[in-house]
Amino acid sequence: MYDIIIIGAGTAGITAYQEAIKHTQNILIINDGSWDTTCARVGCMPSKVLISAAHRLHDLQETDKVGLNIKAQVDTTQVMPHVRALRDHFTQATLKEVESWDAQHKIQGKAEFIDAQTVQVNQQQYQAKAFILAVGSTPTYDAEWKQQLGERLITSDQIFELDAIPKSLAVIGSGVIALELAQAMQRLGCDTTIFARSRRVGALTSPDLQQLAQELLSNELKIKFEVLPQNVRKIGNQVKLEFSEQGQTQHLMVDYVLVATGRRSHLDSLNLQQIDSQFGNLKELPIDPQTKQLGNYPIFVVGDAHTSTPIQHEAAHEGRGAVHNCLNYPKLKSLKDLTPLSIVFSQPEMAIAGQSYKQLKNKNIDFVIGKVSYERQGRAMVLAKNKGAVEIYIDKRTRQLLGAELFVKSAEHFAHTFAWLIDEGVTLDELLAKPFYHPTLEEGLRTALKHARRQLRD
Ligand SMILES: Cc1cc2nc3c(=O)[nH]c(=O)nc-3n(C[C@H](O)[C@H](O)[C@H](O)COP(=O)(O)OP(=O)(O)OC[C@H]3O[C@@H](n4cnc5c(N)ncnc54)[C@H](O)[C@@H]3O)c2cc1C
Repeated sequence: MYDIIIIGAGTAGITAYQEAIKHTQNILIINDGSWDTTCARVGCMPSKVLISAAHRLHDLQETDKVGLNIKAQVDTTQVMPHVRALRDHFTQATLKEVESWDAQHKIQGKAEFIDAQTVQVNQQQYQAKAFILAVGSTPTYDAEWKQQLGERLITSDQIFELDAIPKSLAVIGSGVIALELAQAMQRLGCDTTIFARSRRVGALTSPDLQQLAQELLSNELKIKFEVLPQNVRKIGNQVKLEFSEQGQTQHLMVDYVLVATGRRSHLDSLNLQQIDSQFGNLKELPIDPQTKQLGNYPIFVVGDAHTSTPIQHEAAHEGRGAVHNCLNYPKLKSLKDLTPLSIVFSQPEMAIAGQSYKQLKNKNIDFVIGKVSYERQGRAMVLAKNKGAVEIYIDKRTRQLLGAELFVKSAEHFAHTFAWLIDEGVTLDELLAKPFYHPTLEEGLRTALKHARRQLRD
């Protein structure tokens, strides 16, 4: 009997293995498919490479805003090969790490439970004292649409395999993945249309920042809010989408349809009902939100397989922590102890650090909002990036920094700083006593902090 069996070798599973091996050699990791992680193969990394090319091109096309006149000759034929080359670099690094592991510890295949202590892979059964389920998730799409459109319907799993930037694209969805990929494609010269079920774009929960994001992004992207295609049909090498807008039936012809409407957990592949008949209903699995324990079993579900925060560093953190919950069982620790931090690599970037506007409202916390617009912020104007805004949330009673939502250039860096400062429990007054170099984007944050302080004086 193994000490731990880890199922799934993505970010969470690999991190769990790396942690477990420090404590025991009596472990097994089972993985279906490739061992190079969703993040490196079809997620974080290739998307960021594509986005980097797109934003660089966009900057070149906007040089008039800094007094330059550059006529760039644009050739995007090398973008997709570049995305794959760099993606391969990242996946190879992961595969090299996995190759260095003891072959006895690894099994290729799909695992499913026989009972609470036994899993089956390739007709062989294996038992463990504890399990870590790190099976991740997969993009969802309408099976009928797929049948209609064949290879013309793509998800984030296929987009990085395209030979070239398509001439036109319809993106279904306006969440984080949809927005990042749609803006990148549009900036790379692909005529992109987003179909959004609601008016929400990206991840911001503040109504004012959401409104601003909708307005700003609509200047650049064709976003059909509250419109979804009713019919799709393949005509030759194109897709015809039929939708209703302002009471009229409209059509759009595109090269590809990118469906980015969400992801489904792979937990359904594990036959969890063999552990407990009630576990057949995946929507109501009794998974402790803190310890990630499944029911009363020494089984822990980590990463994208079951989460409201499908992000890489949380998957890794949970994978690492779950090992200790397995080894110290039944003494359990919370795996959800990181200060929240999420980033959308749109331009301007979106980010949330600490508690979001919505979380604070839902908890009825008494807080003030320090706001700053970057439209006339000195450094942002110098950089010709004077768009967006930031909100900083301060507890009225303790004056502590609770969270921030950002829609501005460099939000990825500001959000880290905010998350780290929230960890330290800093107050508004301590923040305002810090140095702010001139002229920097950070000075805008001081404006927001002062705005918060004025409200606390009232
Ligand atoms: C396009 C895109 C962009 C993203 N960008 C970012 C970003 O910028 N920043 C960020 O933080 N996050 C980003 N993410 C999210 C991030 O990639 C995920 O949070 C992370 O990869 C989750 O890791 P995981 O270990 O839970 O799952 P995965 O890496 O998906 O690993 C799960 C593994 O389990 C295997 N498996 C499934 N079922 C079984 C079974 N029954 N038996 C054995 N093995 C099984 C799978 O084949 C897979 O190998 C992005 C995701 C996408 C799709």
